[in-house]
Amino acid sequence: MNHSINHTHDPSLRSWVESANHKGTDFPIQNLPFGVFRHRDTTISPRIGVAIGDRILDLFACQQIGLLQELPESLQAACIEPNLNPLMALGSWATSALRDRLSELLRLNGSPPPLEAKILIPMAEAELLLPASIGDYTDFYASIFHATNVGKLFRPENPLLPNYKYIPVGYHGRSSSIVASDTLIKRPQGQKKRPQESAPTFGLSKLLDYEVEVGFFVSSGNDLGQSIAIDQAEEHIFGLCLVNDWSARDIQAWEYQPLGPFLAKSFATTISPWIVTLEALAPFRCPVFARPQEDPTPLSYLASALNAQLGGIELTVELRLSSAQMRSQEIEPLRVSQASFEEMYWTIAQMLTHHTSNGCNLRPGDLLASGTVSGPKSGSQGSLLEITRRGSQPIELPTGEVRSFLEDGDEVILYGYCEQKGYVRIGFGECRGKLI
Ligand code: CA
Repeated sequence: MNHSINHTHDPSLRSWVESANHKGTDFPIQNLPFGVFRHRDTTISPRIGVAIGDRILDLFACQQIGLLQELPESLQAACIEPNLNPLMALGSWATSALRDRLSELLRLNGSPPPLEAKILIPMAEAELLLPASIGDYTDFYASIFHATNVGKLFRPENPLLPNYKYIPVGYHGRSSSIVASDTLIKRPQGQKKRPQESAPTFGLSKLLDYEVEVGFFVSSGNDLGQSIAIDQAEEHIFGLCLVNDWSARDIQAWEYQPLGPFLAKSFATTISPWIVTLEALAPFRCPVFARPQEDPTPLSYLASALNAQLGGIELTVELRLSSAQMRSQEIEPLRVSQASFEEMYWTIAQMLTHHTSNGCNLRPGDLLASGTVSGPKSGSQGSLLEITRRGSQPIELPTGEVRSFLEDGDEVILYGYCEQKGYVRIGFGECRGKLI
């Protein structure tokens, strides 16, 4: 179901929300991503919304005035909750039925419905919140280019560890410090030790970095002890968002062995507010990354014809950076990198299947992230660690300032979008965070 193209993807569809028809908008009627918002000027509780052009369709209001009454009651009930977890728990049939109805509701058929003012709010007047209550968060390491770049910096003689081509490597992250886009990020303190020092010191991290990642939310979960087969994996994925895995490289270098990332990562993780459903991404599916011939084929539980043929996603991710000085001189943020999610070594289905292969249960609203999206080309590295070779080759900003790692006042903005001939471009909006 998630892979099939249907009438909701029709490139000729137009919406009565005029801004949704503008060329280059992230949120045309073919996208319909879900999020949670609150009106800035009221005390009304958070509500589920759908991004359409520069507006948000308020699902609570839609349900209250009967615009969703053809839908099953369980689905209507999920639409008036303050987060997406109940909708996610219903599974992909529900998301698909809702998308079908919303596409019909927002479609241009002559004139807009008379209730427009009641069900739409300008995005500029809304505070965009975390879309779900995230119980657990797991971060993978699915780009072989990122793994090799980072490995070379820390272990020049042995960059890629022997398990990499067999296992989608990951670690359990911290969900409590996942924050919505636009949340200010406080520079963390921690233990650091440079190789030439005999003992560690405690203080502010000086090597603060970002990681450009793609996240995916679990919809219906699995029971403890039950694994999810690779061809069913995407039935358990609600949709995708952008993730900035803020990373303190000096803290990380000292603490990461032998158990992996800990306080270098858990001080903050920023995610984008809108979740683009797998159904919306159907026109942008592509074959899995082509492994070099000498690489091992994945073990059978991580392989299938469907995954090989359509496991990849043609999604471009970009990172832009602006310093306080750039903003004061009204200079646009500088694009620092651009990479394609189709170049990831492991697919989202492989990551989810591997996660449950030991019987570990995933729950609705759990967040899995891909790990840094880096490609083989120059300009496609998704972290400053890689771009500046651990700070030894700083980048220059348009003001003449240089950056090895992030400085206070720097703002980091992630973008993501999908383009395919014959279909309307869809985008992910922004994932924004400023360092203080
Ligand atoms: Ca990461």
